[in-house]
Amino acid sequence: MAKTVTKIGVLTSGGDAPGMNAAIRAVVRTGIYYGLDVYGIIRGYSGMVEGDIIRMHGKSVANIIQRGGTILKTSRCLDFYKKEGREKAYQHLKKHGIDSLVIIGGDGSFRGAQIFSNEFDIPCIGLPGTIDKDIAGTDFTIGFDTAVNTAVEAIDKIRDTMDAHDRLFIIEVMGRDSGYIALHSGISTGAENILIPERRTDIEAVIVALTEKERRQKLVNLIVVAEGEGFGGADEVAKIIKERMPSQEVRVCILGHIQRGGAPSCFDRVIASRMGFAAVECLIEGRHNIFIGIINNRLHYIPLNEAVKKKQRISDDWMKIVRILST
Ligand code: ADP
Repeated sequence: MAKTVTKIGVLTSGGDAPGMNAAIRAVVRTGIYYGLDVYGIIRGYSGMVEGDIIRMHGKSVANIIQRGGTILKTSRCLDFYKKEGREKAYQHLKKHGIDSLVIIGGDGSFRGAQIFSNEFDIPCIGLPGTIDKDIAGTDFTIGFDTAVNTAVEAIDKIRDTMDAHDRLFIIEVMGRDSGYIALHSGISTGAENILIPERRTDIEAVIVALTEKERRQKLVNLIVVAEGEGFGGADEVAKIIKERMPSQEVRVCILGHIQRGGAPSCFDRVIASRMGFAAVECLIEGRHNIFIGIINNRLHYIPLNEAVKKKQRISDDWMKIVRILST
């Protein structure tokens, strides 16, 4: 018999992502619709360990669907890696009568949830919130669409000045382990080359291609680099190109945290709302310890213990598209 839930705790954990507020709103409003009490846990697992927990009402989530960041705040919590920390967290939940959790975060947050649930029999549901889109089992994560569109908007602007001065720009986007933001933003801004962690950077090939373009008087060039790219990121790539091609006017721009913020896109608001709604229905129906993914526009329910970072295979076709379309 699945445990009946009556009081849900909702938290955002790990890296923040635009659309997390829309997910919180959906959990709170759906929970209230079904007659459950909903509590917000502040700063992720840290708030659970420290007892920073507030009651949420329909009004608590008014006017947040369009806001980036997370009204519940987020953190990385070292105490939660330890049994004593998780024991403290459980005691705080017990004090409020919280009997189930919705965790909005990445694969690390899901691993923590699975361990906690095994230890204390608290049903948990995960919602994938990460700009990197690097969780196996879902085509999309909350925040990716907004982040990649922010990157595209910024690169488009840089392109104007790049074009005016005939420069080579090397733009670094987020993605320590995942090249998705780089791949999508690079293709949609017409990059000549996209360097990502999933593929070994062949710097000689980059230089050969640029030399060939220089010969054809194509001086405006854009290279998009993911921060976790193996050669050392945008600065290192720029350094070697300057050494080897002194005639090139090379500039570097690291987009950084701008990619995490801002109003969530329509797409992120919609998937966050669908996932948040589904999370509460799953808790009520006794479908526990899963996270919610979207594949082919349909919701999928994946066991939390299968939450792993997706090591994607970027097929050669992607790179062929980049090469051919940027000539
Ligand atoms: P993300 O959820 O974005 O992948 P992290 O990997 O930093 O981010 O995880 C967020 C938090 O989840 C951690 O700070 C920690 O509190 C908790 N967590 C992650 N992995 C574990 C684990 N193996 N055991 C217990 N807690 C964990």
